[in-house]
Amino acid sequence: MSAGGRVLLFNGSDGEWLAEITEAGKKAGTATCEAQTRPQAMPPDLWLLFAPIKKARTDFIVEKAVELGVRRIVPVQTRFTNSERIRQDRLQAHALEAAEQCGALFVPEVTELHRLDRLIDDWPGDRGLLFCDEAEAGSRAATLAGPPAPAAVLVGPEGGFSDAERARLGDMAQTRVIALGPRILRADTAAVAALTLWQAENGD
Ligand code: SAM
Repeated sequence: MSAGGRVLLFNGSDGEWLAEITEAGKKAGTATCEAQTRPQAMPPDLWLLFAPIKKARTDFIVEKAVELGVRRIVPVQTRFTNSERIRQDRLQAHALEAAEQCGALFVPEVTELHRLDRLIDDWPGDRGLLFCDEAEAGSRAATLAGPPAPAAVLVGPEGGFSDAERARLGDMAQTRVIALGPRILRADTAAVAALTLWQAENGD
């Protein structure tokens, strides 16, 4: 685009603005905001906790979590998580692109990788934890009416959760064990399914 063109801008906290480009350089430009086109909107206070899987499928999870509306995306290292590292900057850039694409005015933070046991130790008392457990496969998909925000959805890695993790999660007062239907879903499908079920009952 060149000077005189009009663009829609957002910064994650001040809504969306129509702006006129006043200078267009190769690496930077200037635009003047003319009018607010939409007020700031925030997604419900829902976090997605997921164990990173292969690169393209992890990218998919981040993208879909933004589209479905979460406040924070937390990569989690579990006993059977394949990757011990994530590219947080890459995933954050993906979240930004997804927000631009779907017209969300808020870009969720993608945090660093957290160990599941430490997250459990420090879990906030007022945040419900919707633990998607593949051991529940066979049961009908849950209706997620009742656990309103603040809440978090937890999805495991390709290898699922260990018995010890299942026991610790089950001991937490905030945990609700969630079934996602008769079959074992791939981790990326499970994330989309769980967020959709929650949004259907609690989302805006
Ligand atoms: N091997 C497959 C893959 O490559 O992705 C299956 C992975 S499944 C074990 C990954 C995670 O999805 C589980 O840890 C669980 O969080 C969730 N999940 C899958 N199917 C589920 C179901 N029917 N009910 C509840 N959670 C499920």
